[in-house]
Amino acid sequence: VKGLAKKAAKAGDPVKQAAVLGAGIMGGGIAYQSASKGVPVVMKDIAQPALELGLNEAAKLLGKQVERGRLKPAGMAKVLNHITPTLDNVAVSHAEVVVEAVVENPKVKAAVLAEIETVIGDKAILTSNTSTISINTLAKNLKRPEQFCGMHFFNPVHQMPLVEVIRGEHTSDETVAQVVAYAAQIGKTPIVVNDCPGFYVNRVLFPYLAGFGLMVKEGIDFQLIDKVMSKQFGWPMGPAYLLDVVGIDTAHHALDVMAEGFPERMAKVEKDPVDLMFQAGRYGQKNAKGFYQYA
Ligand code: NAD
Repeated sequence: VKGLAKKAAKAGDPVKQAAVLGAGIMGGGIAYQSASKGVPVVMKDIAQPALELGLNEAAKLLGKQVERGRLKPAGMAKVLNHITPTLDNVAVSHAEVVVEAVVENPKVKAAVLAEIETVIGDKAILTSNTSTISINTLAKNLKRPEQFCGMHFFNPVHQMPLVEVIRGEHTSDETVAQVVAYAAQIGKTPIVVNDCPGFYVNRVLFPYLAGFGLMVKEGIDFQLIDKVMSKQFGWPMGPAYLLDVVGIDTAHHALDVMAEGFPERMAKVEKDPVDLMFQAGRYGQKNAKGFYQYA
């Protein structure tokens, strides 16, 4: 990573304008992170309420810092001014780095990436925050796959240090170097990983979540599993609560991608609890009902 960061320093100046596509849990978090480290960011969504939610979340995080005396109110206003919400692709056209963070659906992502590629400058770098979808698959319809890679943040973005930079088969060294440098510029710890469904962390995490689903299907109380994994085993939270934080819809799509990518290890089972919750519209904390009830 150090070598790549050096290459990036040679390759150009720090990023002055970023953009994020999708203002949800992750897009909002990435916009906040970029803005709070002084990199202005355009935050694009297709729904006005999503933009408002993204901005409110950023304001909440900043408000907490003001309360704790870590930030002056003027500093809060400055960070918020660095986030430009928009429903319009044109506003993204000046971004040097774009992070796509829309729903975890290969078809939707491919369409969004192909469309934005026609809007951004020909030197701009395009990245995807996909949790599981292969970067080579997403790169298939791009005109400049050498300027595309994965940039996988973790949830909650402002707390989780790691960013996986995923190199696709056509990704150039310069692109990897610039994305590594941008991750470091906004205070994250990048690691460069090769492409496959789930990349690095989620190849460990999703088999665990699938194992949890099987145990629930066998009749074990999910609250008991959560209690054992958090209070007794000592992890910050158990799998049911984690699924609610991640978003059951996102986890459901990601589990599908992993099952397709690793059929021998992660084959789907009928009446999987995550699938049942998804079909029942229980998406987790984002709509206040998941394994747990939040309203
Ligand atoms: P989310 O459901 O909270 O947000 C998705 C947002 O994308 C919504 O606001 C939606 O309106 C918007 N959107 C949909 N189509 C769009 C389009 N064509 N253009 C612009 N915006 C569009 O989802 P999320 O949890 O933020 O996940 C986003 C991505 O990040 C997914 O690929 C997911 O796998 C990945 N990810 C999620 C987590 C997590 O814990 N939730 C962690 C790491 C990565």
